[in-house]
Order: sequence, then structure tokens, then C-alpha cells
Amino acid sequence: MGPFDWLPHAPLEPLHLDWLRGVELAVLRLDRIDPLISGNKWFKLTGHLAQAQAARGLISLGGAYSNHLHALAAAGKRFGFPTVGLLRGHPQDTPTVLDLKAFGMQLHWLGYGGYRARHEPGFWLPWREQYPHLHPVPEGGGGREGALGCAVLVEQVRAQLHSVGWADYDGWWLAAGTGTTLGGLALAEAGAHPVHGAMAVPDDHGVAQNVEAIVQGGYELLDASRGGFAKVDPELLDFIDTTQQACGVPLEPLYTGKALLALKTQIEAGRFAPGTRLVFVHTGGLQGQRGFKG
Ligand SMILES: *Cc1c(COP(=O)(O)O)cnc(C)c1O
Repeated sequence: MGPFDWLPHAPLEPLHLDWLRGVELAVLRLDRIDPLISGNKWFKLTGHLAQAQAARGLISLGGAYSNHLHALAAAGKRFGFPTVGLLRGHPQDTPTVLDLKAFGMQLHWLGYGGYRARHEPGFWLPWREQYPHLHPVPEGGGGREGALGCAVLVEQVRAQLHSVGWADYDGWWLAAGTGTTLGGLALAEAGAHPVHGAMAVPDDHGVAQNVEAIVQGGYELLDASRGGFAKVDPELLDFIDTTQQACGVPLEPLYTGKALLALKTQIEAGRFAPGTRLVFVHTGGLQGQRGFKG
């Protein structure tokens, strides 16, 4: 699939905030790679696309706010290949779903029970029969392919260090959902710089196991979920508002907001010495928050 050679470029920008205590922060803006396609999901997809040479399009699955399906459908629209989305639950028109339709994605609603069956052995069979020319991408674009698609972020940061006035950096800080993106960074770093993952889900969601299946060492996970995935509290919302006003960087409450707030907590606890240089990855997700704004 030729168009998949197209690779997005994520700008690296300095980030000035009043709670950094001498720690230096730069943000890698995956939310600013393209007007249509945003976030880490496109990088994860590129890894799967490398495997999809003979396919004519893509089929995948997700929820009615899915950043993954959104990136996949947007890529189909932009590069002119067909996409099919298998959705959790019953038909509803969230802002995300309206975009999926506008991007030309064909949707199938599986209900909740039908969606839960997605890990069962026979699940893909009828879909592969119905869409033999489409390459199936796992939920969230995960797995080793997804991680490999994110490895390029390390090169992109290294190539832009001069733009923030750095000769080198000391580590990465980013939100982790499945840990695929983090795994890709740790793979590419091969221990050169530690990758700190702020988990958007509690410990029991298997993130550690996911990452272990991708890479051995070079990373650390901490629970930044604040009581559960998608749980929102006033301190978090206030932090997101304050951050946007202070530096103009928009965050959402599920991943990027929690990850940066967890960094603030760690810095206030003295975790990083002044002068430490960290790259914060803005993993995107802004499209998904539209449904959460009353
Ligand atoms: C999916 C997502 C993540 C988590 O990425 P993983 O590779 O699953 O860890 C983080 N941030 C945003 C905005 C996302 O959409």
C-alpha cells in the first residue's frame, strides 16, 4: 500500500511552566502532525501498514470515542483507501462517530456482547470472509508492529534537539494506555535514555505484561490513573485549564492531562534534579474529548 510510506513529522517545542523547579521540559507535539490525523495512533498504524503490503485497505475495532479508529479512518480518507470499523455497543452519533462517517469509514456495530467476543478464536473469520482485501489491525493498533511504528519518534526528537537548545536529553515522559508507544520508544532507545510511562489505567490492566512482550527493560511505569481510566476530578480539570492558559498546549483528561499532572507530582516530590531534561510526548487524543465536554 504505497501511500503508507508517508510518515508524519512531530514538532518538538520548549515547554515553560512555573512548577518545573529547574527541570527542563520539551514537548513532542503528536497532536500537531496533520490537520486530519492526530496523535500516537498514526505512528502505531504505520507499523501495521508495513505488514499490509498486499492489502487494499484496513479493518479494525474500537469504541465510539476511539482515537485509534479516528486516526485509521482519517488516514483512509487522506490517502484514498477503504476502511471498516467494528464498533463497541449500539449505534450512536458521538463527534468521533460523525467523523468516522464523514471520512467514509464503513461501520458495523457489534453490541457489547459481540464486542467482548473480539479475543475469541473465531472472531475475525466472518470479517475476513466479508472483507478479504482488508488488513486487520488489532484494537488500539497495539502489539509489536504498533511499537515499531513509534520507534521513529526517537529519531525525530534527536533531529530537533537543537531547536530547543539541547545537546542531549535525560529521558522520556508519556501517557501509557496499553504501553505500546512506550514500548516502541524503549526499543529504539535500547537503554540509552529511560522512558517513564504514566499509566492512564490502574495496575491490573496488564500494561506491564504488554510492555514486557515488546521490550526488555529501559522503562518505568507508574500509576497516573487517578482512580480509574477516564475518571476525572476537579484538580485534574483545573490543571488542564491552567496549563493551557500558561503555555497554550491543549491537553485532554484521559491521557495527556493525567500524564503531565503526574510529572508535576513527581517533580514536587524531588524525583528529578534541577537541570534534568525530559521530553514529554503529547500523544494527542484531543478529538476524543469532544464528547466529554457537556
Ligand atoms: C491511545 C492513547 C494513548 C496510549 O497509547 P498506548 O500506546 O496504548 O500506551 C495515550 N494518549 C492518547 C491521547 C491516546 O489516544
